[in-house]
Amino acid sequence: MTDSIFSKIIRGEIDSHKIYEDDFVIAILDIGPLSEGHALVIPKEPAVTIDELSDEHAAAVGRVLPRITRAIKKVTGATAINILQNNGSDAGQVVEHVHFHIIPRFKDRGENVQGSPSFKNGPGLELNWNPGTLTPEEALELGKHIKRLL
Ligand code: AMP
Repeated sequence: MTDSIFSKIIRGEIDSHKIYEDDFVIAILDIGPLSEGHALVIPKEPAVTIDELSDEHAAAVGRVLPRITRAIKKVTGATAINILQNNGSDAGQVVEHVHFHIIPRFKDRGENVQGSPSFKNGPGLELNWNPGTLTPEEALELGKHIKRLL
């Protein structure tokens, strides 16, 4: 349990640019956007990381993520979208309340939004994806242990 800034936003104690709300979820525009339309989908349950989230709230997030993404994509004209979800400070999480980033990407803008000072200094989001390898033996061993807990 936590009382993060997002809990205060959910309770209406702090202003936000709310774009969606139902019984389980709110979505707001990120105040430090990585690109035009960057939004956060936040379950109302005060879980810190996704492994603490109940099935009910996880399902509620899953139900609205595609719809909110569609609306943002249409309004901004984004050519692609990243859904990013950080769990724990080692993964870059700053606000200790589960949230899903919807980050629009713009091929023709090189990720920058023309005329908007917030996006002038280069790509808002850079992903370095450095894949390793997985042998069949490693996959079998690892998968066996994970499956036992599911
Ligand atoms: P993370 O690093 O995944 O914890 O991301 C936290 C995000 O929350 C950042 O993108 C912040 O810009 C955003 N953020 C922090 N405070 C607020 C706020 N009051 N309203 C909207 N977004 C916020």
